[in-house]
Amino acid sequence: MTKSYDLSKQAFTEAKELMPGGVNSPVRAFKSVDMDPIFMASGKGAILTDIDGNEYIDYVLSWGPLILGHTEPNVVKAIQTVAETGTSFGASTLIENKLAKLVMERVPSIEMVRMVSSGTEATMSALRLARGYTGRNKILKFEGSYHGHGDSLLIKAGSGVATLGLPDSPGVPESIAKNTIAVPYNDLESVRHVFENFGDDLAAVIVEPVAGNMGVVPPVEGFLEGLRALTEQNGTVLIFDEVMTGFRVGYNCAQGYFGITPDLTCLGKVIGGGLPVGAFGGKREIMEMIAPSGPVYQAGTLSGNPLAMTAGYETLSRLNEESYEYFIKLGDQLEKGFREAATKYNIPHTVNRAGSMIGFFLTNEDVINFDTAKTSDLELFAKYFRLMAEEGIYLPPSQYEGLFLSSAHTEAHIEKTIQAFHTVFEKLAK
Ligand code: PLP
Repeated sequence: MTKSYDLSKQAFTEAKELMPGGVNSPVRAFKSVDMDPIFMASGKGAILTDIDGNEYIDYVLSWGPLILGHTEPNVVKAIQTVAETGTSFGASTLIENKLAKLVMERVPSIEMVRMVSSGTEATMSALRLARGYTGRNKILKFEGSYHGHGDSLLIKAGSGVATLGLPDSPGVPESIAKNTIAVPYNDLESVRHVFENFGDDLAAVIVEPVAGNMGVVPPVEGFLEGLRALTEQNGTVLIFDEVMTGFRVGYNCAQGYFGITPDLTCLGKVIGGGLPVGAFGGKREIMEMIAPSGPVYQAGTLSGNPLAMTAGYETLSRLNEESYEYFIKLGDQLEKGFREAATKYNIPHTVNRAGSMIGFFLTNEDVINFDTAKTSDLELFAKYFRLMAEEGIYLPPSQYEGLFLSSAHTEAHIEKTIQAFHTVFEKLAK
């Protein structure tokens, strides 16, 4: 069986003349897996169909948002209904209150929230707020974490930056870069060192409570607790970037799962149900600093957009505690199958998981930070990705991205994926 990607190839040839690298976001270019990108036509539940008519079980889910799967009927219907009454007003609407209340119910640390249109906007704005609130300049982030493409955060970044092996981005002025300090994830000793040396000027620590942009890397015991204690002692704002983990790792996000309360939280992906959304929120005292309550400016033409708010509201409303038990059950099945297949064919492997996020690394090392993630065999990964696509399994086209599950995935989908692991690993073992 060899799939034809002819129409995708043609489309990419055209796209390369139209957009830098032929794409509107770098990882879509499939560079690290050494093939032309696959152009998608439609999605239904857990299944994606490309423009050549090939079908795949989808573990990318638009990079996380589609936790109910593609075109979930209730979400689609709600969007259609709202579209008929107006797609944007640039004025307040009731659905903004509804989604804000729902988010606050699920995430008690969020006492007030501001909706924006992407995760990048959420993290950029949260940092500005932390700086405005503390009157300090520096921020601490972790190597291999990705928090969107704001200038302050493109230092030692994960996701597409790591996938393409890019150095810290040109275009970020030295005067900005010098205020970002990056240390290894899960390394509390390095964090302590930063507090000792720069504590007076440290406005914020921003962390993915489960790192998801160097593959999936959960926090080691005591790491998040340590960050909470150090930031509290030092008057530094602790920002949980839950753009990926929010409503994926648990019903009450990663902070509910681990029982740690940050000062500010950034959200995105799932809360937009597949439409462009981000949000940041947290302690009332800090949030009141945002304009027009306070002096820290932040705004957006499409912020709180009714279509996006509706898709987010419908999506969150359809998740309950059982949804997360289901993800764990499917994840257990997938992990077991992956491990058995990899062991049988002697493929190096490590598995990290959190809720509906799964990291399969092609290395035998424990992966606890970016350096250990980088021990993965990237050449082997590229072959694995291409062969899995041939078998009808759509994985993230990068070793440094996790797989996602949705409520539309079934045990039968997982079983088919496990069969594909066997077929593919047998070929790779030769
Ligand atoms: N923060 C995290 C943890 C992310 O994973 C991402 C995107 O993948 C972002 C921020 C940026 O979000 P967006 O791509 O919506 O700007």
